[in-house]
Amino acid sequence: MIDKDIKSMSPEELRGEMEEMGEKKFRAGQIYDWMHVKLARDFSEMTNLSEGLRRKLKERYTYTALETVQVQESRIDGTKKFLFRLEDGNLVESVWMQYKHGNSVCISSQVGCRMGCRFCASTLDGLERNLTPSEMLDQIYVITRQTGQRVSNVVVMGTGEPLDNYDNLLRFIRMLTDENGLHISQRNITVSTCGIVPGIYRLAEEKLQITLALSLHASTDEKRQELMPIAKRYSISELMEACAFYFAKTGRRVSFEYSLVGGVNDTQEDAQRLAGLAGPLGCHINLIPVNPIKERSFVQSEARQIQAFKNKLEKNKINVTIRREMGRDIDGACGQLRRRHMT
Ligand code: SAH
Repeated sequence: MIDKDIKSMSPEELRGEMEEMGEKKFRAGQIYDWMHVKLARDFSEMTNLSEGLRRKLKERYTYTALETVQVQESRIDGTKKFLFRLEDGNLVESVWMQYKHGNSVCISSQVGCRMGCRFCASTLDGLERNLTPSEMLDQIYVITRQTGQRVSNVVVMGTGEPLDNYDNLLRFIRMLTDENGLHISQRNITVSTCGIVPGIYRLAEEKLQITLALSLHASTDEKRQELMPIAKRYSISELMEACAFYFAKTGRRVSFEYSLVGGVNDTQEDAQRLAGLAGPLGCHINLIPVNPIKERSFVQSEARQIQAFKNKLEKNKINVTIRREMGRDIDGACGQLRRRHMT
């Protein structure tokens, strides 16, 4: 797949390609810069290349350029949700958020998802396919071009399970942080996983400085299994061991995401047990009031219940934030915009 997809090639691979084509090696640097810094939409923009070379490139390679189908802007906080069409007609969504510390983009890593989390809209139709590295990168590139503003933070928290698309994810991270590309700091990248244990161990060995976020959502195996099928494969204690290993290897603390579902995982006992898991690992906890989807009957916890849950964690000296609900008025929950378009 990478052998035709020029925008998924590393600088070294691109140099090899130029050599093979009988071109000067420095052409690779020029082309890489057009693709990953100047964010060109096609070969015709690459005006310092001869027309002949541009034509040859066009014949030889595919050039990923996502088509923007729709942009919704929140009137509350300026959050923008983008719906993109891929070359094969599939749709993916990304979200652009403005914070005091910079602009953040939430990207999708797969078309659909096969993890089956009960509260999530992205998984309702299963997995369609993995996204290529260039398709992940281009979500950021198109948004950068359209907003005219630099993206400083990237979270892989849109549709899909990133560790279920491991090789493409790694290539994407390396290219996004490469000094020849947008050069986004690894520390400003967060990868969120539902908890694929072997993937966490593998990621720990990559020597990256990214943040790993674990979607925990429950403090007992029994409750977690009700919400997330993956919990039947890996127990919470196996997960905690993997998180400890990740921290030991990278020096980066894992953070926990915990979606509060009314009457399911939001009691004081839940908070106490959660504190028991997060405390030893020094984990930050991000509480997310569940975003109800119409296909399921889950409801948000009461505001008072959420506050009491947070207080309980803080009493146990856990670092906790309640996720600001950005873009509530524009189909906030992952996968909702895409689904509405499909039906
Ligand atoms: N597959 C990855 C990343 C995508 S989901 C993961 O599971 O972490 C990003 C986060 O949003 C996860 O914590 C996920 O559990 C959560 N999420 C999904 N649907 C949600 C909803 N309707 N309400 C609240 N959180 C949701």
